[in-house]
Amino acid sequence: MAIRLTLRCERCGAPSVSEGAWVLCKSCGTWCGFDFTVWLDSDQWTEFNRRAMTDPEGYMRRFERHGQALDQAAAQARGSSPGQPAFEAALDAAAREADWLMAEMPSYVPPRVLADRELRRRYARWIGFDLLHARLGGRVSALYARLNQATAALGFGANENPMEAVKAMLAVLRELAQARQELGSPPDPEGLSFEARLRIASSQMLSAYLRLIAPEHQGPVLEMIYGPGSVEVVGPAGHDYSLYFDWECPRCGLFSLQGHGVEVTTCPGCFCTRRFDVEFLKLGALAQPCLSCGARVEFAQGAPEARCDFCTTTQRRFAATGAAQRLLSREVRLTVAAQHGLPQEIPEQEGLEVSAATRLQRQAEGVARMAQWFHLFVTPARIYGLARASAKETAPALLAAALQEVKTQGPPEAVKLIEAALARCT
Ligand SMILES: [Zn+2]
Ligand SMILES: [Zn+2]
Ligand SMILES: [Zn+2]
Repeated sequence: MAIRLTLRCERCGAPSVSEGAWVLCKSCGTWCGFDFTVWLDSDQWTEFNRRAMTDPEGYMRRFERHGQALDQAAAQARGSSPGQPAFEAALDAAAREADWLMAEMPSYVPPRVLADRELRRRYARWIGFDLLHARLGGRVSALYARLNQATAALGFGANENPMEAVKAMLAVLRELAQARQELGSPPDPEGLSFEARLRIASSQMLSAYLRLIAPEHQGPVLEMIYGPGSVEVVGPAGHDYSLYFDWECPRCGLFSLQGHGVEVTTCPGCFCTRRFDVEFLKLGALAQPCLSCGARVEFAQGAPEARCDFCTTTQRRFAATGAAQRLLSREVRLTVAAQHGLPQEIPEQEGLEVSAATRLQRQAEGVARMAQWFHLFVTPARIYGLARASAKETAPALLAAALQEVKTQGPPEAVKLIEAALARCT
């Protein structure tokens, strides 16, 4: 599956391109959206997480200080009203915290904002206004509480009907934008229209959750954010941008869920392991018209990016390879290995014995383990699909055997998941 954003800049009408995680107008640079797929594989993401992982206490301390400073600002603002010196001082303090946040969290604003003093100041005041009001206990606070509820309703990937929660999230984001206007927010830091800014805010918020939504819903969600006609979905639904990709075990033949970013894949049925290969992601070769000039751009198999030969624009397919995550976990593992004199490379394991007589049982145990480990994150449809791919026409027998396993071992959520997958067989 390939998803392509075909946004047009509302200022000059030029098509937008991804520059890192930032979807920007190719012609005038106006910010149009946020592409989380790129963010997850980016150097910025790696750097941010490396810093947090190297010194987790420092990370906690920094955010604790930030939270306290905002609490103080809110306390100061509460006794006064907008326009009064105490309230203005509180807004100044919140703007300083917004400035800190923009620098601390590189996913907050495009890098060019931090490099431009005047633009950075405007963003700090604009974000600071929101940070302060979120803590004042009024309308903005209430809306953030509702946003949290909608987010919780979306769940972690087990939700078969996520669209209602997505709609609720988008509706709250719109209300939030309206509320801040009515409360006298500073003007948009880049002079963007209400709708353009809302698209950015929605893409930043929802792109993080898109991975938890089944692929068939991902295109429609992006269209809800960016508007009709701005999203093209090519080919059948695939897990290019899901939390887990499907991997076929070379020994027992079980198709299983593997986290993007793993260094080795492990079969939950027979425990055979293989070093990660980008081929596993099944990002097939792909050709599409260049977003800028319309020339044919070809993506090599497994490649998340391609360059247009004519206009040299870099194109990105909507997929996360987990490369940055893999690099980080490898760094951590190598440090530990060096400390304990362990081998640097993880050896591949052949796992448990598999024969024609034991294959179905191995697979059933694998399906049962997946239901036990991942019931929060997958739908019955996905488990059913994995069973079908693994056992073909004997999928009902496979699921029935897996159901026996989870009925003895629990938990009830795993039983429910496999029962629902089994119900799809009829
Ligand atoms: Zn433009
Ligand atoms: Zn296996
Ligand atoms: Zn081109």
